[in-house]
Amino acid sequence: MSGSSKRDYYEVLGVPKDASKEDIKRAYRKLALKYHPDRNKEPDAAEKFREISEAYAVLSDKEKRSMYDRFGHSGISGRYSSEDIFSGVDFDDLLRSMGIGGFGGGSGFSSIFDILMGRQQRRGTPQHQGGVDLRYDLQITLQEAFTGFEREITIKRPEQCSHCKGSGAEPGSKIITCSRCQGAGELRQLQRSAFGQVIRISDCPSCRGQGRTAEKTCKECRGRRSVNKERQLRITIPPGVDTGSMLRLSGQGASQSGSRQGDLYVVIRVRSDSTFDRHGDNLLIELPISITQASLGAEVEVHTLDKPVMLKIPKSTQTDTVLRLRGQGMPRPQKRGRGDLLVRIIVKVPTKLSKRQRELLEELAKELDN
Ligand SMILES: [Zn+2]
Ligand SMILES: [Zn+2]
Repeated sequence: MSGSSKRDYYEVLGVPKDASKEDIKRAYRKLALKYHPDRNKEPDAAEKFREISEAYAVLSDKEKRSMYDRFGHSGISGRYSSEDIFSGVDFDDLLRSMGIGGFGGGSGFSSIFDILMGRQQRRGTPQHQGGVDLRYDLQITLQEAFTGFEREITIKRPEQCSHCKGSGAEPGSKIITCSRCQGAGELRQLQRSAFGQVIRISDCPSCRGQGRTAEKTCKECRGRRSVNKERQLRITIPPGVDTGSMLRLSGQGASQSGSRQGDLYVVIRVRSDSTFDRHGDNLLIELPISITQASLGAEVEVHTLDKPVMLKIPKSTQTDTVLRLRGQGMPRPQKRGRGDLLVRIIVKVPTKLSKRQRELLEELAKELDN
């Protein structure tokens, strides 16, 4: 009964029987905007979109329309394969010219071809389903982690073939019934087993289970649907990243067999620094001071990662004392402000003394003994 339940094409587009070509196009555009699976998340949007696209494919074609007018749906189905119905219109071009855009947004479909051929299995799955996530390791200095930076990176990745938009078919090529499986999409093999004959069913590899295939394969990708490309990407590393920080570049991963692209993960490794020891948001440095600075107290200049600051050393500071300079550490990503700079004091005992220095120290020693 499926044939009789099929809706009238004019009704589908909501146009009268004597509608002009322009009226039909306008009606299609309106409905395409409404049901485009990138915009419409209703579960039946793709099927609705397929239905209006089929109606448009027939009614915008003079010959098909006259067949339909005279014989109804049987005039079309008796004469054209379902692939032939769509073959007269380049939907990707048409939709772009209507300002609706092609596919590659959030629909989960790799191409218009998928929708027209009723491939709906990707509905409701993540956006980059079928794509392959890539990882790019990036080593940076502590200074770079401190300031953040922009950099161009070069990656090689398989991308969806732009010539055939991932369909593997040469654009404009006729879609024909797969000769290997006769359109069934599956292969049946008779196998003998201990229990007699068993029929083994598998997806047809020639048409990938679709039952239909292009007459000419794409000359760019030779039917592989993806092609290797080298790309320069500009990445922005925010201040404060640490080893293990990841940057996700949505849709910049690889494509597999014409799928949309997965994501690219830039994984950061911050090289250790000879001056600054990092502990999360805090930085630790060692500061050698003299015994007199340690005893009497002093103000000394300390270099942070961006500017020199003054550090007050209280009198009687012991070696290994840690002084804290608040807000002079690493920037905190996501949070406001910065970590602290921790200064470990190392009191240096002089190794070479002048005669005068020696006398002064001896005098000090006597004084301390009393
Ligand atoms: Zn191609
Ligand atoms: Zn096949």
